[in-house]
Amino acid sequence: MTDKRILIIYTGGTIGMTRTPDGYAPEKGYLKSELDMISDMHDSGMPAWDLLEFEELLDSSNITYREWNQIARAIDDNYDDYDGFVVLHGTDTMAYTASALSFMLENLSKPVILTGSQIPLCELRSDGKDNIITSIIIAAEGVVNEVCLFFGTKLLRGNRSTKNSADGLIAFASPNYPPLAEAGIDIDYHKSIIRPKPEGVFNVCYIDESSIGVIKLFPGIHFKLFEPIVTEKLQGLVLETFGTGNIPNYDAELPGLIAKAIDNGTMVVVCTQCAHGTVQLGAYETSSALARTGALSGYNMTTEATIAKLHYLFSKKCSADKMRKMMNRSLCGEVDPE
Ligand code: ASP
Repeated sequence: MTDKRILIIYTGGTIGMTRTPDGYAPEKGYLKSELDMISDMHDSGMPAWDLLEFEELLDSSNITYREWNQIARAIDDNYDDYDGFVVLHGTDTMAYTASALSFMLENLSKPVILTGSQIPLCELRSDGKDNIITSIIIAAEGVVNEVCLFFGTKLLRGNRSTKNSADGLIAFASPNYPPLAEAGIDIDYHKSIIRPKPEGVFNVCYIDESSIGVIKLFPGIHFKLFEPIVTEKLQGLVLETFGTGNIPNYDAELPGLIAKAIDNGTMVVVCTQCAHGTVQLGAYETSSALARTGALSGYNMTTEATIAKLHYLFSKKCSADKMRKMMNRSLCGEVDPE
């Protein structure tokens, strides 16, 4: 492992933040000074690593598809020179970035591990040190060749992950897919559920701007309020529905709006508000009308992965037909259709 080289890409996030009068914020150069003080980072058993710090460090609330492209570009430019990549990122939107990169990095055959921390390195009890060291080791071991998120003790498939705690040190879960590895005394990989090495050539699909909306349903929701959003400009719309894909059917408002949106060329995908389980359009009367509009099932895909997948497919400039087919298939382990 000591002959391996890992590139750490630092985008911002709590791990390298310092205190400011307005609360924690990232500061240029600070992470490097913290890493230099961690003796384990320079232990003879550690793989060699380099740090690439972004020009502008961000709280991950400010991450957009542009930063997804910037991270992908950094991996693309350095792909042949490193055995693996660790992306340091804020936790708030880490699951979105992990999902997006999983689609963008086509035929990836090296580990890309996203991590960060809930407590900055500058504070007592920071979880940053363990998260970064274990992520580097996982990146160097090279057992996984997909985009993953490591946090606390678990290595999760990136496009299955979701942030499920604002303050816990186990901040992420992957409710519909088991962890790819667990870090105890040893790092135990669950090899049978790790994606096989791809055969094709590594390629990056960069993301273009696209207009995607998400509507989370709640009891008594007035759909009319959403009419302009739904019927005019959106390329993609994710509906976070109840249970297995259910919507209120006390009037025909929502199915009517959705049908109009689909006529206008909007790709509508139905997800569930439940962390566990899958959408089954037509299982109840309250989802049959939605199925008839031509809305697509997101099955057990997270909202994060659904948004990322829509971005990716729009950027690939797929025809509507092809998009529908791709939405119904797993492209990189993000969903179990049916
Ligand atoms: N607001 C921070 C961020 O996402 C939270 C964190 O990193 O834990 O950048």
